[in-house]
Amino acid sequence: MRIGIPRALLYYNYYPLWYSFFKELGHQVVISSTTSKAVLDSGVTSCVDDACLPIKLFHGHVANLIGKVDAIFIPRLVSIYPDEYICPKFIGLPEMIKSSIKGLPHLIVLNCNAHRNLKDVHRGYMELGKMIGARYSQAARALQKAMANQHDYDLLLKEGQTPIDILNDDKPIEEVEAKGVIGLIGHPYLLYDEFISMRLIAKLRARGYAVLVPENIAQSQIEEVCAQLPKKLFWSYGKKLLGSGLAMLKGKKVDGIIFLSSFGCGIDAFIVELLQRYNHRLYRIPSALITVDEHSGEAGFNTRLEAFIDMIEWRNRREGYISAYGTSVFGH
Ligand code: SF4
Repeated sequence: MRIGIPRALLYYNYYPLWYSFFKELGHQVVISSTTSKAVLDSGVTSCVDDACLPIKLFHGHVANLIGKVDAIFIPRLVSIYPDEYICPKFIGLPEMIKSSIKGLPHLIVLNCNAHRNLKDVHRGYMELGKMIGARYSQAARALQKAMANQHDYDLLLKEGQTPIDILNDDKPIEEVEAKGVIGLIGHPYLLYDEFISMRLIAKLRARGYAVLVPENIAQSQIEEVCAQLPKKLFWSYGKKLLGSGLAMLKGKKVDGIIFLSSFGCGIDAFIVELLQRYNHRLYRIPSALITVDEHSGEAGFNTRLEAFIDMIEWRNRREGYISAYGTSVFGH
């Protein structure tokens, strides 16, 4: 069977796992095309208006697979760690797709819910295997191999590569040659989709900067910094963004930090605010927030990026002369 995987949302985190699982069970995997204006427009037209950009884009990638595959894989991720949740928009994704897009082939839905117990994730994959005709033992073997593949991918990320470097086979700039390091904070489906991020990583590298992304920060470091917060964060991806941002700032690992956010994202709204407050109070590292939506234009994006880099470079030349962060409005 030809199984389509939409190149959107958590594709950038779990593609090695999903690809190997289907491949081990003897299926052919087809990924949707890279994002283009046509893919985005088809998502925007088919999806409800008040969804965020990444959800609309996911619709566009599903539509892009119609006619190319026998079934489309839709992950329903409820929780990926015990006692935590991820954004509710992931929970209703299969239903949103079914009600918004016509002419769909068979949908195969993975139910992944680790809220009570990590073992429930295993059960979700066994059910997924059954849906595509695999026996329990075959699915269990396929999952084991897929997890090993995912583990290798995660190791490369921890060593400093980005998902784009690995999935597109791009060569990252060596840090020793770089003028500095820019920390990028954003959801994987924004940062690593080169149409949506307008090739942000490539542009920074072309200006001579290395990048540090949330996937490069070890989970143990994220847990450590987040344990010092006054309240537990129960959104896994919110925690990942805030924790990796704080770890970058705390360890003075970056010369500047850019938040790439999607208009209408509830999680980003408070994570960005918290990270900016901690930065103003404790670290005072130059920062910029870039918010994208379906109407964002590249010219404005480039101007903001250029201005941010120029500001870091002027500040490095004349330390203390130019305020990179303005006066704190929080009284600290
Ligand atoms: S976390 Fe934000 S950007 Fe991601 S799906 Fe939810 S609302 Fe959209």
